[in-house]
Amino acid sequence: MIWQTSSTGSEDTERLGELLGRRLRGGEVLELRSDLGGGKTTFVRGLVRGAGCHDRVSSPTFTLSRVYKSKDFEIHHFDFYRLSEPGILADQLSEAIDNNQVIVVEWADIVENVLPEERLALQLELTASSPDERLITLTYSEEYRGLVTALETDWKEVEP
Ligand code: ADP
Ligand code: MG
Repeated sequence: MIWQTSSTGSEDTERLGELLGRRLRGGEVLELRSDLGGGKTTFVRGLVRGAGCHDRVSSPTFTLSRVYKSKDFEIHHFDFYRLSEPGILADQLSEAIDNNQVIVVEWADIVENVLPEERLALQLELTASSPDERLITLTYSEEYRGLVTALETDWKEVEP
């Protein structure tokens, strides 16, 4: 299943992340795709805030993974950008997959096999019309239908 929308700037992408973050319950697996600078980490910043964590989100490109604690679950944020081998981080990732955690993975290609098939993938693409616009495509399996439908409703309600 697919839902598409667009973002007009980084605040807009953060806002979408925040709305999704508010809806998380624990156990979700989120895959983020884009070119470098597409807005994956920007989205996570909103997501973490929406989930009720007040920690600062920075790109885990150098630290490779970070954990943010919300009231009900932990958000494990991975970034595989610099890795050509999934290595030990893939083990960390598979250990983190359970109902009390939320997994967020930037550059999921090399851990494709580690991620459960049931997941929500979000892709950000630059467009020709503006450097601040992104086409956002959510591709998801059946168990995410309710979450995405709710997100779609929230997103329409807050549309400026
Ligand atoms: P990634 O993690 O995908 O490499 P980042 O989130 O670190 O990307 O960086 C995205 C960059 O693009 C930031 O500098 C941000 O301000 C800028 N930007 C411009 N428009 C948007 C948009 N619509 N959504 C997200 N980021 C945007
Ligand atoms: Mg990033």
